[in-house]
Amino acid sequence: MKLWRRLVCYARRRSPWLFHMNSGSCNGCDIELVAALTPRYDCEQLGVRLEGSPRHADILCITGPVTKNAVGAIRTVYGQVCGPKAVVAIGSCPATTNVFIDSRTLDGPLQKHVPVDVFVPGCPPRPDAIIQGVAKAAAILAERGMNPAETALAIATPTRGVDSFTEERP
Ligand code: SF4
Repeated sequence: MKLWRRLVCYARRRSPWLFHMNSGSCNGCDIELVAALTPRYDCEQLGVRLEGSPRHADILCITGPVTKNAVGAIRTVYGQVCGPKAVVAIGSCPATTNVFIDSRTLDGPLQKHVPVDVFVPGCPPRPDAIIQGVAKAAAILAERGMNPAETALAIATPTRGVDSFTEERP
């Protein structure tokens, strides 16, 4: 494996940039994610940074039970994150729709629409659990970057339908 690729993967693992998306959450998980970035938990010390645009991010963090209105936006934003990329579902809502399971306004869980790499359970999860989930996603991201075939797929086809990504991934 070329040295430059190994260096890029090392750097990616050490400085993952996040994009946060709320898919209809009660804001409990969002507050905990913000707390993880504040000096008390100091996620930024690990190189983690919250980005304002999905095009600059490596990891997509999604909170909330996935409302029908949010599905299109989730698919668009997922397509806008350049590969290799990873998705972290924060809280019990995106994983299971949680207490909102019977709501007719929802179209969850999240894994129906995008491939999820890490689930951080809890309602809401603690900031240290979120940091652990992001660290796990960064490790997955670095591993994914080592595989040129998968990288090429994600970079070459960032706006393809989500179904094709789901089918082609193991
Ligand atoms: S998991 Fe709990 S805290 Fe997080 S969005 Fe759902 S209901 Fe709110």
